[in-house]
Amino acid sequence: MMAMFSDESRSRLSTCHIDLQVIFFEVIKRVNCAVLEGHRNEIDQNKAFEEGKSKLKWPHGKHNSMPSLAVDVVPFPIDWSNRQQFLWFGGFVLGTVEGLKDQQKISYSVRWGGDWNCNNNVTDEKGLVDYPHFELIV
Ligand SMILES: [Zn+2]
Repeated sequence: MMAMFSDESRSRLSTCHIDLQVIFFEVIKRVNCAVLEGHRNEIDQNKAFEEGKSKLKWPHGKHNSMPSLAVDVVPFPIDWSNRQQFLWFGGFVLGTVEGLKDQQKISYSVRWGGDWNCNNNVTDEKGLVDYPHFELIV
């Protein structure tokens, strides 16, 4: 059976750029996942900065624009220690993005927090990896 977003995930995704919505409504057809965060307000962005989860203070993060240019999505079942599952999911999302671009259903490419330099190599990340994070390259 096709997976569906929870109301909470759907509501968070609705704060994101239309391309991110198109991408993850395509992903959810095949892989069950949850949207953790779309737009992030000033308080939450600066909290993420203080906690070391983001390198940027408000309003410089891609989650801070409206609509949000970034979204955090995790595959089910959520298991933060399962790095391999996050890597698989990241690749699946990036493949979906390529297909949607080919079909001209989206305009922008995506940078994933597991491969910040976009070289399709997940073993050469120097700093903070952020597997749930997907952002539009605008
Ligand atoms: Zn993020």
